[in-house]
Amino acid sequence: MKPCVAILATGGTIAGISHAPTTAGYCSGKVPIRQMIASIPDIDTLARLTGEQISNVGSQDMSFDILVRLTRRINDLLGQDDIDGIVVTHGTDTMEETAFFLHLTVNSPKPVVVTGAMRPANAISADGPLNLFNSVAVAADPDARERGVLVVMNDRIHGAHSLTKTNTTSVETFLSPVNGLVGTVNYGDTVYFRFPFRRHTFLSTFCTLFCRQDPIILPRVDIVYACLDMPPDLIDCSVAGGAAGIVIAGDGNGNMNQATMERAAQMAGRGIFIVRSSRVPTGRVGRNIEVDDDACGFIASDELNPAKARILLMLALAEKNSLQMVQQLFYTY
Ligand code: ASP
Repeated sequence: MKPCVAILATGGTIAGISHAPTTAGYCSGKVPIRQMIASIPDIDTLARLTGEQISNVGSQDMSFDILVRLTRRINDLLGQDDIDGIVVTHGTDTMEETAFFLHLTVNSPKPVVVTGAMRPANAISADGPLNLFNSVAVAADPDARERGVLVVMNDRIHGAHSLTKTNTTSVETFLSPVNGLVGTVNYGDTVYFRFPFRRHTFLSTFCTLFCRQDPIILPRVDIVYACLDMPPDLIDCSVAGGAAGIVIAGDGNGNMNQATMERAAQMAGRGIFIVRSSRVPTGRVGRNIEVDDDACGFIASDELNPAKARILLMLALAEKNSLQMVQQLFYTY
């Protein structure tokens, strides 16, 4: 019998409609999932499919409310013996954040694949149909199990930990610059190169946060973007707004000017969690390089970019964790 794959749709350009097929203007999140599935030739040869609409928004409007619902729905579905894998359709703008959130919160070894498109459904050479076809092939494939949440775009299989969006318009926008690809998929034919080596999904301890049905309060964590001669009061502004943590999108190896560093260290002394990440697109941020993290009470983000560091810090602060424990989480996940 063919495997069974549930497609959960959240919106994005893959469900978008252009004002005209040859112009760049369009609206995200218009085409319902049933219509999307029906438009793809032979997709039902890969798997038995179900489609569900979770939301229909551009991913710039994705929210933690939707993400919590999405995680719980995925966990429910994957707990059923007759469901073999999940595909989530999503906008590309915040796809890496959603994929990483699911990577930490889905409690199953079964494949979960996030996909989307750079071109709306009715554009010339729309990329959504083949991305969805390939994603169903990966989600239906037993070899995709235990690899965490995957992102399938433009024939590439990325790990949720490593991918990042690098181009505003190109269909080859997602890259996995530090760790490389998990595999490739071509018209449904899959090849895998590796397993992601950080902890994820069925081994993640964050899954327990989502077992209960009670509302989950995720603490506010802000991202402050470092730049030449930056004003240090951006840090005060976040704390005054209620942030329990701040991720600095630092320059270079997670740097910031002296004034900001002093202000951030003061706040760390008051119990605000300060994570140093980098605005540079690739590379790690290490401890105690140019900044004395031990003295300032900072956390280094290791490989996570600011957007993903924020997701991990929010989940870490939803539980009781000390500074040292949070630093350890950045080496573990
Ligand atoms: N703004 C769109 C979104 O993230 C872009 C896309 O899907 O490619 O929903």
